[in-house]
This record gives sequence, structure tokens and C-alpha cells, in this order.
Amino acid sequence: MRPVVLCFSGLDPSGGAGLQADIEAIGQSGAHAAIACTAVTIQSSQQVFGFEACAAALVKAQATAVLDDLPVKAIKSGMLGTTDNITMLTQLFAEQIISTDTPFVLDPVLVANSGGSLGDEKTLVSAFRQLLPYATLITPNTHELRALSGEQDLHSGAKKLCAQGAHAVLVKTSHDFDSGDIEQYLYIEGEMVHKSTLPRLEGEFHGSGCSLASFIAGRLAMGDDLIDAVKSADSWITQTLRAADDPHPEDAQAQLIPNRFIHS
Ligand code: PLP
Repeated sequence: MRPVVLCFSGLDPSGGAGLQADIEAIGQSGAHAAIACTAVTIQSSQQVFGFEACAAALVKAQATAVLDDLPVKAIKSGMLGTTDNITMLTQLFAEQIISTDTPFVLDPVLVANSGGSLGDEKTLVSAFRQLLPYATLITPNTHELRALSGEQDLHSGAKKLCAQGAHAVLVKTSHDFDSGDIEQYLYIEGEMVHKSTLPRLEGEFHGSGCSLASFIAGRLAMGDDLIDAVKSADSWITQTLRAADDPHPEDAQAQLIPNRFIHS
């Protein structure tokens, strides 16, 4: 069977972000996605109206059903929604229910691209620290990087997250809207090992962060090393954004939905 990525992620009914983004991105990476649903959000492609997080015991029961059954070769987490869910995932690693050898891509979701809250930022930020030592790669956007590290400078922030235990940090400047092209840096154990420049495409995208992190997790499950996984995810995500659907062509501010049904 195809290698499996077990994702801990929330449902976005618009289908742009969250677990649907994970399923589509991982499918395109060549792997198979299994999902432990962490939350049901109420949102359109443009706006978050609210969410209800799943109880940690329910999320754990979903995850262990998959872990007992399928060849899980990588883990990806997105919206966890509560500190209880973060603690539960930490314990799965600490108790070796998930082997600590399993590549783990941690997308530390705090807010949606639209700005809508997907959890209590302050408590989530401190809870994420316990999960960092298990992360093969953390993929914060600039807001999340600054919130987690307490550093304004992106390079200092990435080094700090490595010092706090994350093996690697992928930094993108995509949320710094005054910058030109998107710069991306990959830090491994505090050293910058890869740098790339991606074209800044017009518009804002709903679910681009989830898609990128999941595609990387899929490629890690398929056996790529981290740098190759990041490079192939870069070229794939650029294609999905170029082909994105625009639900509101009359509104220049509307968020677009990446079209993940393209082949890398
Ligand atoms: N997870 C869920 C369930 C979401 O609803 C969102 C955003 O709406 C995200 C994650 C983060 O999405 P993005 O990839 O746009 O950062």
C-alpha cells in the first residue's frame, strides 16, 4: 500500500484548507492521507465564523485506530484547536504510541489566512513548545513564527525554534505583505541549509499553508529527504496557486482556493 500520512487537522467546510487540503495534497504527493479530525470549523472561503474542537480522547481514539491498522510513515498536524489536543499529541510521541523516528511536520495553526481565530492564541503558543522536540519540520507563517519564538526577525525566530527542540524550520515571508517576491529559508538544527525565492502571485489564498505542509509530509513518507521534499513541494504549490479557483471574481480582496488537482 502507499505510505500513509496521519494528519491531525480540522474540517473547513469550504474545502480550501484543513483536512480537505491535507487529503488532496498528500494524494498528489503519492502518499495516502488518514485523518484524525481535531475540530469542526464554521467558515466560508473568506471568513471564520467559529469552531468546535473535538475532545482529546476522541482525537486520540481516531489516531490509534489508524496507527493500529495502516503503515503510517509520517505525521502532519494542522489546526489542533485546544491545548488538550496539543498535549495529547505530545503524549502519543512521548509514550512511543507514535514512534519518534516517524517524520512529523508541525504546521502550528493559530489563525486562518482571513485573520479568523482557530484557537486561543496565547495558550496554544505555550502548549506548542512541548511538541517542538518531536517536530522534524515546523512550517509557521510569519505571524506564527513571531508568536512562537517571541522574535521579530525571522532568522532569529527560526534559530530559536531550533534551539527549543524543532529539528528544522521552514520560514516563508508570504505574510509580510510589503515584501516583494516570497523568500523561503530552511533551517536545520539552527543552520540555514536551503534558500529559495518564489514568485508572489496576485491574490490571497485559503489553505496554501496546509497544502504546502501536507505535501512535504507526503514526500517525507515517500522517502524523500527534507531538502528534496521542500523543493518538490515548492514547485507543486506554485502550480496549485497559479491554477487557483476564484469564488468571487468581482471582489479583488477575495481569497482564492488552490487547485490541488494538478500533477507535479
Ligand atoms: N486548518 C483549518 C481547519 C483551517 O480552517 C485553516 C484556515 O482556514 C487552516 C488550518 C490554516 O489555513 P492556511 O493554510 O490558509 O494557513
